[in-house]
Amino acid sequence: MSERLGGIICLACGAQLPESLRWTASLRCHGCRELEAPLRADLARWERESRRALFETLGSSAGEASTAA
Ligand SMILES: [Zn+2]
Repeated sequence: MSERLGGIICLACGAQLPESLRWTASLRCHGCRELEAPLRADLARWERESRRALFETLGSSAGEASTAA
C-alpha cells in the first residue's frame, strides 16, 4: 500500500530512483544529472501531491482519497 507513496522517482524522466540515490534525496537519476536535464513540472507536482497525500493519510484514519483523476 505504501509502495506507491514511498517510491521516489526522477523528476526529469520519471524513472524510479535506485535505493542509493534515495539516501541523497536526489531529485534526478544519474543519467539526468549528467545531462543536467530540467525537472518536469508535472512530475514535480506529482511528487509533491504524493507527499501531501501521505501526510493526509497519516493525519486521518478516514482512509485514502481516491477521487484523483
Ligand atoms: Zn532521470
